Amino acid sequence: MSTELPDKEKKALQSEGPVKPVDWKDYREHLATADREGHRLWIYPRKPHGRYTRARTWVSWVLLGLMFAGPFIRINGNPLLLVNVVERRFSILGQIFWPQDMIISTVTMLVFLVGIVIFTTAFGRLWCGWTCPQTVLMEMVFRKIEYFIEGDAHQQRALAKAPWTAGKLVRKVGKHGVFLALSFFIGNTLLAYIIGTEELFKIVTDNPLNHLTGLTFMVLFTLLFYGIFARFREQACTFICPYGRLQSTLLDENTIVVAYDYKRGEKRGTLKRTVPPMKRKYEGYGDCIDCHQCVTVCPTGIDIRNGTQMECVNCTACIDACDSVMDKIKRPRGLIRYASLNGIERGERLQVTPRLLGYAVVLLGLIGLWTVLVFTRSDVEVTILRAPGSLFQIMPDGHLSNLYTVKVVNKTSRRVPVQLKLENLPGDLQLMGGEIVVLPQLLAENSVLIDLEPALVKHGHADLVIGVYADGKKVETLKTAFVGPRDDSIPK
Ligand code: SF4
Ligand code: SF4
Repeated sequence: MSTELPDKEKKALQSEGPVKPVDWKDYREHLATADREGHRLWIYPRKPHGRYTRARTWVSWVLLGLMFAGPFIRINGNPLLLVNVVERRFSILGQIFWPQDMIISTVTMLVFLVGIVIFTTAFGRLWCGWTCPQTVLMEMVFRKIEYFIEGDAHQQRALAKAPWTAGKLVRKVGKHGVFLALSFFIGNTLLAYIIGTEELFKIVTDNPLNHLTGLTFMVLFTLLFYGIFARFREQACTFICPYGRLQSTLLDENTIVVAYDYKRGEKRGTLKRTVPPMKRKYEGYGDCIDCHQCVTVCPTGIDIRNGTQMECVNCTACIDACDSVMDKIKRPRGLIRYASLNGIERGERLQVTPRLLGYAVVLLGLIGLWTVLVFTRSDVEVTILRAPGSLFQIMPDGHLSNLYTVKVVNKTSRRVPVQLKLENLPGDLQLMGGEIVVLPQLLAENSVLIDLEPALVKHGHADLVIGVYADGKKVETLKTAFVGPRDDSIPK
């Protein structure tokens, strides 16, 4: 399919005066990872070298260490991070959150989202390039293993085209075997963040028949990660990641991104040894020597010289590649660098725009709210509800009784004995299952029987106020209703 426009349309475009005609030769109207028929084009990025790659490698080691050690790290006896969606129990930085902490969880989520928006508006996809688990695992683990087993880009390409020999089979099977083992390891780590390390060890060491669900998820996670890192790769960032899709709405001309300095680089042209630098400059050429080194290292297959593109994960590989070219041709580094559009066009530094300021005010407000909620949160959360399906009973001594179910969540890391007292009416409150002692970070449930004299239940209803005491200290006051007969059939 040709990218050329018919002459008539070209003329129409050119006649639009100030509107710059589209350069159809360079205009990208297709994906770098698909051919014109939509078939996948496999990317073989060249191994990047340079100061950014070195820095990212160090950051990655720290992050990988944290990621794999994370499920084992405890703060006050609680996991650093646990997202137990099964039991609806969450631990963030050692603080346990229950479904009862819905408001705190919602505000935490909002802080996280607004933080992302501010960060992205100011610094673009810095997260994607340096800290996203997908990029870190893909570029710093799986890709490096691939380079080790199959060699650099040109060797990988040659291997892919080569006929199937014993050598090729060994390399391919070896690589995919390592990928599968790594995916199993990553899948287990994810499972540990969901169900906790104790449960994971039980699945690994116990009779498999007792943990069929856990084992199924283990296999599914392994296959999922293998699929992502062995096959899907950069497509996850381009098509699946919601954060990537949000970029177009969050970035503006002041956002710092990995950018090509077109003012310095254009007009691009091959460097000819016979042409002295002054003559090259006089002929209107910029610093870009059109060597394509920035394109060959790109793991998403794009040419950064076309401007900011949705596929770009800001991995900095093109910065390193271009810097080494600039070193060789004795030009200053930074033809591709971290910069904003305004920075390149007008030499402006990072601007604090009203939009950024607005986001920052919202974020500060949310952080304030979150702090208040966390520090005023009680250690024990109690709910009391009438037992489902029960009405009231008339006791042999003529008293009326109602049955309730009480649920107590202990958010501390110590055992908490809990007492309940009826505070607004004379009556009897009995815990059916004996004293409530809630173990650390757990939920206890008990039945409560409350007896009242019929005279206290007017028109079939009485309001109850129940005090909740933990360690002898009042921690909460609960309100509930007591029901009785509406008519006068019961002597009062
Ligand atoms: S690496 Fe630098 S000089 Fe070479 S094509 Fe890319 S931008 Fe131009
Ligand atoms: S354009 Fe540069 S920063 Fe963006 S993904 Fe490609 S190599 Fe990485």
